[in-house]
Amino acid sequence: SKVPSITLNNGVSMPQLGFGVWQVPDDEAAKAVGTALEAGYRSIDTAAIYENEKGTGEAIAASGIARDELFVTTKLWNSEQGHDAALRAFDASLDRLGLDYVDLYLIHWPVPSKDLYTDTYKAFEKIHADGRAKAIGVSNFLPEHLERLLGETSVVPVLNQIELHPQLQQAESRAFHDRHGIRTEAWSPLGQGRGLLEVPTIVAVARKHGRTPAQVVLRWHLQLGNIVIPKSVTPSRIQENIDVFDFELDADDLAALAALDEGKRLGPDPAVFGA
Ligand code: NAD
Repeated sequence: SKVPSITLNNGVSMPQLGFGVWQVPDDEAAKAVGTALEAGYRSIDTAAIYENEKGTGEAIAASGIARDELFVTTKLWNSEQGHDAALRAFDASLDRLGLDYVDLYLIHWPVPSKDLYTDTYKAFEKIHADGRAKAIGVSNFLPEHLERLLGETSVVPVLNQIELHPQLQQAESRAFHDRHGIRTEAWSPLGQGRGLLEVPTIVAVARKHGRTPAQVVLRWHLQLGNIVIPKSVTPSRIQENIDVFDFELDADDLAALAALDEGKRLGPDPAVFGA
């Protein structure tokens, strides 16, 4: 594949760029994921709450691509936290996907008010020990949640999937992850295609390289070492978003993008979400 792989802290390799399917209805997911697989994507990011694990699984089955060449991520929804509930929810996700293992299973949000994420993660450790998730990790965890998890459980999460784009650069989380061998995966890497792709600095860098703003933003992530999972249902954009391995941003470009950080979230605050 044209997408380079990175090696996670447990030795498992994962494509640095994958395909996200949030907000893709189940009956359109098979088509979108099929288009992505044809374009060369090998990593797919879904979640129980997206309600498209079935369509995602159908596209995987129809693709004829060997299972071990794919990297499938799904996530446990907040209402299913707790040890036994998590084990049941995992079975249901596998069933909908039509798979006998996932490559990566994530706790979708910490939901600190429920105080169940360490129990939940202990169920994930069992699933991992059984080989039914090749890797386990978390999403939307703040450093304080990771700190506690590291103290109370034994398998270091391979990654933390957090909101991250040039207007929310997450320096503190990224530094924490680096210190603990946890990779940073960026959700909404394109800022959900809202204002970010029209920011003059990004448009100017795109023009300089003869690329699109989306490609410049994805390149920025990749050069920072982030794992990215851009989403699109438009075939030309699905293609465009993977065609980012034949150019490079220079130090001036990176400095210009570094200056765009506003520390502003598009999504919820993990400290309180799900309460
Ligand atoms: P994104 O940043 O990937 O933006 C997607 C939107 O940007 C598209 O709907 C489209 O409008 C636009 N777009 C895509 N490609 C484009 C292009 N080449 N040119 C112009 N516009 C383009 O946003 P996202 O879907 O929120 O995030 C990506 C993935 O991250 C999701 O699909 C999901 O898998 C994951 N995610 C996870 C969480 C979490 O809590 N863990 C939350 C949100 C998203």
